[in-house]
Amino acid sequence: MPKSRPEKPPILWLQTIIFSSTLLISLTVVPWYGYQYGYNGWLALFFFAFLWANGLSITAGYHRLWSHNAYKAHPALRLFFALFGAAALQNSALVWCSGHRRHHRHVDDTEQDPYSAKRGLWFSHIGWMLRSYDKKANDFSNAKDLQRDPIVAWQHKHYLAIAISMNFIPPLLIGWLVGDIIGALLIVGVLRLVVSHHTTFFINSLAHFWGKQPYTDENTARDNIVLAFFTYGEGYHNFHHLFQNDYRNGARWWQFDPTKWLIKAGTWVGLTKDLNRIPSFKIHRALLDMQFKQAEETLASISAPGEIIREWQACIDSEYQQLSANMNEWNALRQQWYEQKRDRFNEATQEISEELHRKWEQTALRTRFKELDYSLKMQRKRLQQLTLQLATPQPA
Ligand SMILES: [Zn+2]
Ligand SMILES: [Zn+2]
Repeated sequence: MPKSRPEKPPILWLQTIIFSSTLLISLTVVPWYGYQYGYNGWLALFFFAFLWANGLSITAGYHRLWSHNAYKAHPALRLFFALFGAAALQNSALVWCSGHRRHHRHVDDTEQDPYSAKRGLWFSHIGWMLRSYDKKANDFSNAKDLQRDPIVAWQHKHYLAIAISMNFIPPLLIGWLVGDIIGALLIVGVLRLVVSHHTTFFINSLAHFWGKQPYTDENTARDNIVLAFFTYGEGYHNFHHLFQNDYRNGARWWQFDPTKWLIKAGTWVGLTKDLNRIPSFKIHRALLDMQFKQAEETLASISAPGEIIREWQACIDSEYQQLSANMNEWNALRQQWYEQKRDRFNEATQEISEELHRKWEQTALRTRFKELDYSLKMQRKRLQQLTLQLATPQPA
């Protein structure tokens, strides 16, 4: 008897029809209409404005604010995220965030991660939404904090009405403004939705397949600058999976992360506050750990006399000892830092001289933190050099 295949869950027709029909219209009717009648130039501007409002509501709102509590946002901004996030047609924030928290917790697990990259590129991109694979889609036990957020609760309750209005009212208004309602529905309505869908879906799919793993290789997440460009900075996914509560995904100042810039700019006008940042020491440390791994792997793969191998190994070991010493010191400093903060909080009245003394101590601490950061940075450079030397063929 032939083996019976495990039965696939039923198709979710509404999602399937929306995804396929909008894609089909974008590939056929959109260019045909443009060829036949031409598009008003203003539509390009509205297309990008609406696209970015959708994208940033998902990345700064659904993702970094609600899924990860990476910062706090003013209700006005939360309302904006709820409205334009619904316009992106990726389900309510509650459903989205609950699934995303499971993605982080069980990343790559083929059963528990709702869009596990281990189930393939198609599945993690869109396949997971086309059938009722996710048995826990309506289990919000990991998002109780979000259920208490009145804006999230309101958006979840009226999701369909908000999503439909947000997809039709703005394009219709824009169409009326520029005098081409069908053109606006096609460009700002349909094409914007398709581009918005697939660029954000890249984060679940391509960002787990294509790119580098500078911070961790414990999961499939990658850092990829090309993806970061199309996903408002979310392409630095390797960093994000290790430091998920950081409001930045591209932590270095030069990394292209418009979502991080938006959140930071929000602090200047009182729309955002309490931004979470992972201490740079921990970031350097993660990078160093990966470099140590690489150095050990390179050393294991080269063929050289035993004596030379032992010399290199001693070099790596001594670097490792220095890292341990730095880490111990950093932890002790951190403890001291917290104690000082607590003391300051406990003593309501303080003598000026005490306050000055504390300030001096804090400056000294800060300087030492900076020195430790620098020391790790230098160590990374040395290890890079060492691995490079190891990988260069030795003269016979
Ligand atoms: Zn991921
Ligand atoms: Zn995340």
